[in-house]
Amino acid sequence: MQMIFYGSVKTDMCLYIEGILIFVQYVEREKFIECDDMEESLLYKMMDFIEENSIKRAKDRNNFHGEDNVFHVSDLVYCRRKQMLMRENPEMSAKVSVQPAVFNGIVFEIGLRQYMQDYFDTTEYIPRFSYKGKKKVGKYTVVGEADVALLKEGSSGLKVDTIIDIKNRVMSNKWKDYYVLQLLFYKWMFNAEHILLWCFSSSASHKEWEISDENSIDDDFVINLIEHPRQPMWDWECKYCKFTKGCPYINGGKNGRE
Ligand code: SF4
Repeated sequence: MQMIFYGSVKTDMCLYIEGILIFVQYVEREKFIECDDMEESLLYKMMDFIEENSIKRAKDRNNFHGEDNVFHVSDLVYCRRKQMLMRENPEMSAKVSVQPAVFNGIVFEIGLRQYMQDYFDTTEYIPRFSYKGKKKVGKYTVVGEADVALLKEGSSGLKVDTIIDIKNRVMSNKWKDYYVLQLLFYKWMFNAEHILLWCFSSSASHKEWEISDENSIDDDFVINLIEHPRQPMWDWECKYCKFTKGCPYINGGKNGRE
């Protein structure tokens, strides 16, 4: 009985493998035909649609923090000139969002959110994505949007327990200061117990980092940053900037500080 069973499986397997080989040979012979008019391709049309939606979202974001004394966290952790120009040119920001590296990062994050939702539904946390916050500091208001906030039921209702910032790249010394400053802003804004950075990499292992308790920023630090913008904020920033043409601060480093 056993022999017949194995014989039967082997025969099926042989036919299956033969089928695959015939298919592979067929594909090799025909090869892929590259679309010669990309603008007519379905992919191009979809990316166009995504770009239009990104413009709309960029305009919505501008409405969210468009007043004079309102600053977004990203205004304070990046070059101020670049941020202002991005805000004035939502079309430009949208173009950045469909660039392959940025677009892939956005798509990755959307997929990850689904996994996070499923996972945190099994825990005591209540996950919130693109979690908006607002904090008054002197005559200014700072607004921000954390990637993920994990809420927990406390004695006085729901409270932000953990903020998670997601980066689709490895932690490196180059980006470290910027990551830390961004996380410290969230700590200052949301007063969360834990501030985590999750770094995902396609070539290395995924890692979690936590901002330790002794690190923090205060109102004076934030006001100082608002009133004395750095342009650029980081040494590496001009290299990736779309507004280098005619910029008086380009590669200015510390000299770019007003
Ligand atoms: S070129 Fe540099 S300084 Fe000028 S806007 Fe861009 S990042 Fe800022």
